[in-house]
Amino acid sequence: MLVYTAEMLKELAITAGAACALGLLCAGSMAAAAQDVNALDDLVRAYPDHLVPAEKPNTVLWKDGTEMVFDDGIQKAGFEDLLNRASLKDQMAMPYPRSWPSAAPLVNADPGRVRNDAFFRKMYGGSADEVRANLVSVEWLGGARVPFSKVNGAAEALGRVREELETLPAEVYQYVAQPVGTFAWRPIAGTARLSMHSFGAAIDFQLPRALYRYWKWDMRSPNDAPVYPERMLEDARLRQVVAVFERHGFIWGGKWFHYDTMHFEYRPELLG
Ligand SMILES: [Zn+2]
Repeated sequence: MLVYTAEMLKELAITAGAACALGLLCAGSMAAAAQDVNALDDLVRAYPDHLVPAEKPNTVLWKDGTEMVFDDGIQKAGFEDLLNRASLKDQMAMPYPRSWPSAAPLVNADPGRVRNDAFFRKMYGGSADEVRANLVSVEWLGGARVPFSKVNGAAEALGRVREELETLPAEVYQYVAQPVGTFAWRPIAGTARLSMHSFGAAIDFQLPRALYRYWKWDMRSPNDAPVYPERMLEDARLRQVVAVFERHGFIWGGKWFHYDTMHFEYRPELLG
């Protein structure tokens, strides 16, 4: 296994926690432990409707008394294994970059794609009917309405995104004037994992054609690496739109190595 030195990581602008999640290196240092505590605090702060600070170490405590382990102590065998059985620590390990990227993400740098399934099922609902019971109708641009989960203030946050977008020139907000899907109880294509659409906490848009890209559409064979659409990073309007979503707790799938440019999901724990 390739072990990255502290210098190399600095150059890559990623933390030890992120490197660990990427399977590059896992060092049990004091610094890493402090980082874990901060990550756990960020998670609790992001979901105040459900989570409360716990005195017990390594524990995510729910208001109803449920305890979840933060760090399961399991070194995942590879990236797919990490996606399939991510712990809450894994979920928090890869920092989501707030700045606009200047180049393609590093291999497997998918901040936000690593999700703990049990956590989100408990948060938003463990079945289509349970999730549906939490959906409310949110007004979108041009008078459109979309169903979105009211849990954690996600629907309210989406409403604030719309309000802020409306303060921008029409040629900017037109990029996301056409929503093409929010709630859908379904696994991510080709996997058994539920996407945030299952929880009513993600929204897709019909972006302008050249910007509408999904990593799987760009693979000629299953062993190909996705070809990140770097040219879209020159689009100032797209940049403005993404910044608005991020200000209200939504991450953008265009910042992933496994990109999904039409996709935004409510993940305030990564934008603390
Ligand atoms: Zn999506």
